[in-house]
Amino acid sequence: MNLSPDLIDATVRCRRDLHRYPELSWTEYRTTAKVAATLDALGYQLHFGEDYLDLPSVMGRNIDVAVEKQRAAEQGADFAWLERMGDYSGLAATMSMARPGPVIALRFDIDALPVTESRFSAHVPYCGGFASEIEGKMHACGHDGHTAIGLSVARWVAENRERLTGEIRMIFQPGEEGCCGGKAVAKGPIITGVDYFLAMHLGINVPSGAVVVNPTGFLATTKFDMTFSGHPAHAGIEPNAGANALACASTAISQMLAIPSHRDGMTRINIGSLVSEGGRNVIPASAHLCGETRGETQALDAYMMEAVRRISQAAGAMHGLKVELTVQGEAPDCANSPELVARLRQQAEQLPGINDIVEQRPFGASEDATWMVRAVQAQGGQGVYFIMGSDLPEGHHKSGFDIDEAVLGSAVALMAAMVESLVTHSSN
Ligand SMILES: [Zn+2]
Repeated sequence: MNLSPDLIDATVRCRRDLHRYPELSWTEYRTTAKVAATLDALGYQLHFGEDYLDLPSVMGRNIDVAVEKQRAAEQGADFAWLERMGDYSGLAATMSMARPGPVIALRFDIDALPVTESRFSAHVPYCGGFASEIEGKMHACGHDGHTAIGLSVARWVAENRERLTGEIRMIFQPGEEGCCGGKAVAKGPIITGVDYFLAMHLGINVPSGAVVVNPTGFLATTKFDMTFSGHPAHAGIEPNAGANALACASTAISQMLAIPSHRDGMTRINIGSLVSEGGRNVIPASAHLCGETRGETQALDAYMMEAVRRISQAAGAMHGLKVELTVQGEAPDCANSPELVARLRQQAEQLPGINDIVEQRPFGASEDATWMVRAVQAQGGQGVYFIMGSDLPEGHHKSGFDIDEAVLGSAVALMAAMVESLVTHSSN
């Protein structure tokens, strides 16, 4: 698989443009407009909103569409595409080949994080003039690279259309951070009929030149918010008339963090923020917290969430106030399909630029492409999620995070080689 230098350059340029304008989950309107324009010009058929997503499965989407689209327009998004995409960011693009063959879906996540990018002179995006233009937002997980890789694979497919068979579905998924978009894609019409599914991540503490063909240990996870609604009161005159939402939240937190571990495997819980409205002499009437659970399996995560629900209700009863729990994101565990892992290994072995193929490695985090791997497997297809190594100056989600652009071309080549191998194999 030899890619033209022009395609590799285009991947880097695209990644740098996306890097300058990071967009948080479900607000990726500028990114979607850019992706749509590119894919439309390549001859893909585009699918937006409910044409690719199952809208009832959308989670954690609390945005002002008009404000975000206005912002995207000011950042250079084409107005016609902003109109055409409707309310939902992200898209799927399909291309049918002349000859019949398998349906292959490739998924790339497109969102960024609420992190302020480093302004240190050694930080390559900063000294290279393509650091985030937006204070407090940053592509600190490499999804700008993923999106650029996806567009270059799409271009390779379009340029090689005559040689290929079957159908390609390119999925540019919104809302991967917080695991809020994957379920809606997996349950949407775009996954129905898929024979082979591939997704990947850059980095994850794997060095440049290495590929992990079979990451294991994807953690099932649930992201939740909890709102405590009490009563305000004067803390001196009549404290008895109040219902202290902060006290109730504190009770719930201390108990949630003490949920016993489970004999069947690893579990995790974190409460990452607590905000309360009150004052020194005012009994706080409301409190809001954000937390998450994880487990080695869906059953273990369900065990944690069952305890979280029980504790939240019991804490409410103790303090005499109302507690509401909302799920804002979810992802299951998954296992890659062994046949597809074997094929990936074969293809990776032949690629220049890849000098280390790691069979297995624990992923140690969560990823909502697992919904898609599971959905494709459930309908008799095969799925694989792999890691394309990239040296990182700083870890994921940190302000000095950056990907090694030298690996972008290898990622495009590996994805393209997999597509070629799958259609060639199937037509034999
Ligand atoms: Zn990521």
